[in-house]
Amino acid sequence: MQTIEKTEIKQVTEALLKAGFEACLVGGCVRDILRGKEPKDWDITTNATPADIQKIFPDSVYENNFGTVGVKTESSDPKLKIIEITTYRLEGKYTDKRHPDEVRFANTIEEDLSRRDFTVNAMALRINLEKPFELIDPFGGIQDLGRKIIKAVGNPEQRFEEDALRMMRAVRFMAQLGFEIEGETENAIKKHAGLLEFISRERIRDEFSKTLMADDAAGGIDKLRELGLLKYVVPELMEGVGVSQNQHHVFTVFEHNLKSLEYTAKKNFSLEIRLAALLHDVGKPKSKRGNGPDATFYGHQVIGARMAAQILDRLKFSKEITEKVVGLIREHMFVYDPETVTDAGARRLLRRVGSENMDDLFSLREADRIGSGVPKAQPYRLRHLKFRIEKVSNDPISAKMLQLDGNDLMKETGLVPSPKIGYILAILLEEVLDDPAINKKEILLDRAKQMLVLKEEQLREMAKFAKKSANEAQTKIEEDIKKKYFV
Ligand code: ATP
Ligand code: MG
Repeated sequence: MQTIEKTEIKQVTEALLKAGFEACLVGGCVRDILRGKEPKDWDITTNATPADIQKIFPDSVYENNFGTVGVKTESSDPKLKIIEITTYRLEGKYTDKRHPDEVRFANTIEEDLSRRDFTVNAMALRINLEKPFELIDPFGGIQDLGRKIIKAVGNPEQRFEEDALRMMRAVRFMAQLGFEIEGETENAIKKHAGLLEFISRERIRDEFSKTLMADDAAGGIDKLRELGLLKYVVPELMEGVGVSQNQHHVFTVFEHNLKSLEYTAKKNFSLEIRLAALLHDVGKPKSKRGNGPDATFYGHQVIGARMAAQILDRLKFSKEITEKVVGLIREHMFVYDPETVTDAGARRLLRRVGSENMDDLFSLREADRIGSGVPKAQPYRLRHLKFRIEKVSNDPISAKMLQLDGNDLMKETGLVPSPKIGYILAILLEEVLDDPAINKKEILLDRAKQMLVLKEEQLREMAKFAKKSANEAQTKIEEDIKKKYFV
């Protein structure tokens, strides 16, 4: 119990006690202390009202009407810079199944604990001035912690009817703590899964993200499916349940998505990579052609990227996260045959993906490979492409890396500002992507001068054509290889 000795926690709780109020540690931090883990955050609860708390701590902020006051401290630990103190509360009535109609204060810690979701989250440590701490555990939380079970406080059906998000929280804690959900609690979830429709997307997103970041992320997502919750979170994933693949896979589409996710959790990868791993083949059921060992999934990455954009948008993920994940999914089929990948191909991949996303794309591909259950023993191929990418990473891949810019062009040729300049530079870029050796001012200028005789219309068509034919040539090579692998 060393951790409770944290000076700031001690100072804050003692100040409450000296002013004649009670002070308890409560919720997740008590659970974590009792498991011998460092708490992620510290929650203090008291019978003092928000007004009382503000009087005791002049340097505090009361931002909401849920009875929580933030006390500022001098701590260098970010978790202790603001310590949240909440007045004992009662469960309000949930007419709309999402938030209590009113916040009502309670008189005792026991009443406050009875509104909490699960027994392991409904314990408090009462701090005393003269005596040692006291564990307050009216619902057998300590026993459930020992048995490693998540069990609703009180009547589970009623608790899920009050706030349906608790069903997702049960799964999240299961995946985070490596616990099991107790039988009656689980049955109540199965029965009331549909109530999730009443919950805001933002709250669902937050619990979904925490589940993905858990050690047993894949177990968590599979549990959401088993309990009937997943179809209210990402129904698109359900399309892959039971969908077999082909001779290159032993798992169904859904199982493979989970196995890939499992690998990203094992490697402690970021939320974006975990989302991409879970969703990377979400387009497969829609693109499946044929059956048995020769079934194909051509274009599933494009369909999947589009579906992922809809899913992440619906769940209100930020634009940054969505764009990143969608890009990773769209590009996850990149070809890495040493015999076929040219430097030009590597440069074009780099341009499409962005150098800042390259490592994450490799991580995703690794997760895909390991998650297939029959990882082809060729990681040297990936290493080869990594080397290839590194080698070309200083080559020009965007117009601003050309040794000739718009200003040079105007100065040297007398061109006036016009779309013509942009088209000429675009054509030059495609040429340089194929052969960086020509990225020299003199050479580029010569080629530009040859193009000057052309009309704006013609240049526009040429620029479009250069990009298209380069991409098509690349796509053609890649498609041929992919066909070899039925993907
Ligand atoms: P973490 O370490 O991930 O923050 P936590 O247990 O602190 O875990 P929070 O979501 O921060 O989880 O919630 C803090 C506490 O508030 C919980 O332990 C629980 O007692 C209570 N709680 C939070 N959300 C609910 C809810 N929807 N219904 C009932 N009690 C809740
Ligand atoms: Mg918390």
